[in-house]
Amino acid sequence: MNTCAFSIASDGDDDDIGGYRSLFENAVEGIYRTTPDGRYLDANPALARIYGYGDPAELIAGLTDIARDLYVNPADRDRFKASLDRDSVVRNFEARVYDKDRNVIWIAENARSVRAIDGRILCYEGTVQDITERKRSEESLRLAAAVFETVGEAIVVTDARRVVLAVNAAFERITGWNADEVAGRPSDLFAIEMIGIAEMEQTWRLAATGGVWSGESWARRKDDDPFPVALTITAIAGEDSAADRYVLLLRDITTHRRDEQRIRFHASHDGLTRLVNRRTVMEGLADSIARAEHSGERLAVLYLDINRFKDINDSFGHAVGDELLRQVARRLKACVRASDIIGRLGGDEFAVVLPSVADSGTAEVCVNKVLYAFAEPYGINDLELYASTSVGVALYPDDADNAESLLSRADAAMYHAKRNGHSFSFFDPDMDRHVAERVNLENDLRHALAEGQFRLAYQPKVDVTTRRVVGAEALIRWRHPERGEISPARFIPVAERAGLIGAIDDWVLEQACAQMARWRDQRLAPPSISVNLSPAQFLDGRLKDKVKAALTGAGLPAAMLELEITETMMASDMDRAIEILGQLTAMGIKVSLDDFGTGYSSLAYLKLFPVTTLKIDRTFVDDLPDDAKNGAIIASIVALAANLGFSVIAEGVETPAQAAFLAESGCATMQGYLFSRPVDAEAFGRLLDQGLPGLLAVSARK
Ligand code: C2E
Ligand code: MG
Ligand code: MG
Repeated sequence: MNTCAFSIASDGDDDDIGGYRSLFENAVEGIYRTTPDGRYLDANPALARIYGYGDPAELIAGLTDIARDLYVNPADRDRFKASLDRDSVVRNFEARVYDKDRNVIWIAENARSVRAIDGRILCYEGTVQDITERKRSEESLRLAAAVFETVGEAIVVTDARRVVLAVNAAFERITGWNADEVAGRPSDLFAIEMIGIAEMEQTWRLAATGGVWSGESWARRKDDDPFPVALTITAIAGEDSAADRYVLLLRDITTHRRDEQRIRFHASHDGLTRLVNRRTVMEGLADSIARAEHSGERLAVLYLDINRFKDINDSFGHAVGDELLRQVARRLKACVRASDIIGRLGGDEFAVVLPSVADSGTAEVCVNKVLYAFAEPYGINDLELYASTSVGVALYPDDADNAESLLSRADAAMYHAKRNGHSFSFFDPDMDRHVAERVNLENDLRHALAEGQFRLAYQPKVDVTTRRVVGAEALIRWRHPERGEISPARFIPVAERAGLIGAIDDWVLEQACAQMARWRDQRLAPPSISVNLSPAQFLDGRLKDKVKAALTGAGLPAAMLELEITETMMASDMDRAIEILGQLTAMGIKVSLDDFGTGYSSLAYLKLFPVTTLKIDRTFVDDLPDDAKNGAIIASIVALAANLGFSVIAEGVETPAQAAFLAESGCATMQGYLFSRPVDAEAFGRLLDQGLPGLLAVSARK
């Protein structure tokens, strides 16, 4: 017989003095009574509700073994029982239990054991509270606290008046401030004055009104050292919906900036002499011309070339040649003014731009200074070397009115001087060898396509880890009937200027796709074929249709085609370029940024470009592995690419040492003479069939 009669539960009992029964029925807490071995004797409606049952009767019938049916961890029941048996009460016992639908909920129980006079336990009775919500918010608080303390970003929480309430560990590490030092102080302490009060106020206002502001800014470390940050300010609305807290998230982007600067420096400078490079000279020259045009001044360009440089290089070696170039650069710098532009155009050629000269006489004074500087011998190692120079001079506006032709006229004058054994020469229209040549080239190009003078060469892209050819780049070749092979680097710009490039690029695209289809038929095809696009082609509204037509014509899937564009193409009209790229990649075509690192598009925008691959320019690879700076740049590019989800390939890989260095830096895909020169379709087919000899050299070194 059950001796644990529950007075308030027994209907119509006289002991139920009014209130108790109603209390039991209407309590918000669950109330129960169970046998020690885990069956319910009684339960109120609240308990049924908490456990998901329709009414207490259903609960009592459904839950016949509490340890097994109710507790997620049956051992909890054992603990519960053990303390009841020992202490007769249990307070605030938290456990996870299943409700009727097997959802896990959290409960807190208070219970006591009811004993007979002889001390025997008759039953347990107790109350249950559903604490699932509280547990959940505790959990998310714990998570938030863990995130707050462990993220790499500095976090600052301020009140509505921007007084610091809390900072995390990363903040302390990054800024050098201690949490106690900044708590209670205005956040302007480390927000820097560099960006200007007005701008800062604007930022806060935007955050307060829009809920969040993010962008780049500056912050200050404890030692006053300013550093660039990616900053997000989130306003947390209080009850009256005005911002009553701000959360600042700061990411230190110093190294990111430094990498950007390094890449930019390299793109605009010559690594050997640290003078600006040809591209920067041309830009500076164009600017100077624009200014001279405005002020009505005259401007001179000096084009210099070291006489017999090749002989010096051949007889004493490259190291001596390089040192000579460095010393020449130093001497040139010493004879011009700070406002003059002095750059290395490539090889042993240099340019000096004098932005304001009265007449040819003033320019000649400078030329003489340069010649004088060259007259001294150069001490290199134990050698004493004499190196003379030939200088050509062209004047704006006398000889040409744009940067390109002004430089090419200075070049023509230099040639003239050299050929006639003079140390310098001013430009004279008769000398316009280059210009004339370009006109001829243009005329010849007009017939080249029709007369079948073009063909394509293919160069493999190789994954050195799998030793597979992972792609082929199609490169155009032109055999001129009289002048023989002419490099695309030479004629493509001419074709662009003459408006002939569209037809040439169409031809290349079509041929390359057709060739790929043939390899596919022979089961040789590499995963993809790359075709270079010129700017005109890229911006041509018909590009998408042309590409589609070429793919359909050859029966190739879009994924087998890769287009190579350069960063500069992105720069002229970014929105348009992004749109075009988006269309191409949406079709499934791959796009790589060729000559990456030499362009001018902001790295900040890179993430917006729907491209698949960054193709690291040859200039970065050239001096590897000795040039630590280029090594660092390559590492930065690889990291950047990984961050943005691009793949990387390096071009111009010529030596096993370069390949090994690149592979170690995380760039395993490569292209270059080491593996194969560009070869005709047939030879490329053989190479696909038989594999690459160059790979052996890489693996031998590793
Ligand atoms: P690019 O797209 O950057 O092509 C790579 C160039 O580097 C090719 O020169 C290739 O022969 C050369 N190269 C490959 N491996 C090495 C190496 O290990 N060392 C060195 N020093 N050079 C290497 P190429 O064929 O003379 O082409 C020059 C440029 O002309 C190309 O640069 C590309 O911008 C343009 N080009 C070539 N074919 C086409 C074409 O069909 N259409 C258009 N629009 N442009 C083309
Ligand atoms: Mg290319
Ligand atoms: Mg390239």
